[in-house]
Amino acid sequence: MKADVVVIGGAVMGASVAFWLTRLNPGIDVLVVERDPTFAHASTALSAAGIRQQFTNPVNVQISRFGVDFIKNFQERLGHDVGIPSLGFRENGYLFLATTETARDTLAEVALMQRENGAATEIWTAEQTAARFPWLNTDDVLSSSFGPRDEGFFDNMGLMSGFRAAAKAQGARFVTDTVTGLTVTAGRVTGVTLGQGGHVACTAAVNAAGPRAAQVMAWAGLPLDVEPRKRTIFVIDAPNARHPDAPLMIDRDFWIRPEHDQWITATVPAEDGPCDFDDFEPEDHLWEEVIWPALWHRAPGFDAVKVIRRWSGHYAYNTLDQNAILGPHPAMPNLYLMNGFSGHGLQQAPAVGRGIAEHILFGNWQSLDLSDLSVERMLAGKPFAEKAIV
Ligand SMILES: Cc1cc2nc3c(=O)[nH]c(=O)nc-3n(C[C@H](O)[C@H](O)[C@H](O)COP(=O)(O)OP(=O)(O)OC[C@H]3O[C@@H](n4cnc5c(N)ncnc54)[C@H](O)[C@@H]3O)c2cc1C
Repeated sequence: MKADVVVIGGAVMGASVAFWLTRLNPGIDVLVVERDPTFAHASTALSAAGIRQQFTNPVNVQISRFGVDFIKNFQERLGHDVGIPSLGFRENGYLFLATTETARDTLAEVALMQRENGAATEIWTAEQTAARFPWLNTDDVLSSSFGPRDEGFFDNMGLMSGFRAAAKAQGARFVTDTVTGLTVTAGRVTGVTLGQGGHVACTAAVNAAGPRAAQVMAWAGLPLDVEPRKRTIFVIDAPNARHPDAPLMIDRDFWIRPEHDQWITATVPAEDGPCDFDDFEPEDHLWEEVIWPALWHRAPGFDAVKVIRRWSGHYAYNTLDQNAILGPHPAMPNLYLMNGFSGHGLQQAPAVGRGIAEHILFGNWQSLDLSDLSVERMLAGKPFAEKAIV
């Protein structure tokens, strides 16, 4: 078998790059290899499905500017009727609370940059925050930042499925198999081996393997500072706190957002570190020990709460700077990375897929300069830190 481009991993990133490659070059032969057709453990399926403009790097704001337009106008931007007319975007906003002076100053500083890049971020006092969301206790809040437009949550699987369907309509091929190795000749990828026994010759390969991205690089003898980190999301019902129009709120020790009449919430474990690729056991203790006390403090209506269910997913965690790692690897220039999203990759899929496709086809970044997120900084050990990691 052969293909012009083999994409390793067919969830949101793999599907997006396949869509953009076949959109920009209709004659190209793209093969997407996905090991799990159920996507049961893909980050894409286990995500909180949010998009925000409130990042601390201009490039991430620009990526989200493109992303939100794509998500809001999904069917039209895809250019195909994929049977998903809308991603059900709920523009509830993101609310970051500052409870320390440092956090207050950072929110004010980055809001300026976000607005310069087209976001609508507003900085509020504690009183303004309480006036807008009277169910919050703001006694210890110094300020907050709120995005009144272009922030909220949407249908994560719809985004992935739409990209896959549109890419197929444009000629991309999708197979169920596990890539088990790369064939490397004179510093270039010349093919991939498949678990079911086949080999696919290619002129370029894309690493879209999510939390398993470092496994793919290891086959090429190249290290990558990306590891799986577990995040447990709790679905809760709080009969005395029903606010379906609430924003996704980020407090010091947890985040929470409405899911219709219920809520989803999570925290970062104090002892955060890599987990096994196949370990999806929820970390139940985080609910009672960390989240509930902090939540009840922040909103007294959460006095009577029932955990309905919970699940764990893996962040593809970039241990250097928690930002995406994008583009060709300098030591293997036809192996392209779209990795390390550290919990904010779903919303980045439209812009990143386009960027990687343009780089493969034209040899450089075109519509959006993504060079801040290049592999080179990783190799040089120079962090390009994203501080607003949720
Ligand atoms: C709990 C949680 C909450 C999140 N919340 C948000 C959010 O609110 N907003 C946001 O923007 N992002 C969020 N994210 C991050 C977002 O989900 C990811 O960044 C994004 O989905 C990454 O997509 P991906 O395609 O790179 O990876 P994945 O979705 O993990 O897909 C990788 C695919 O590669 C396949 N694969 C791996 N190895 C191989 C191989 N050898 N051969 C074949 N196939 C292979 C896997 O089976 C998988 O389907 C969250 C993530 C988690 C875990």
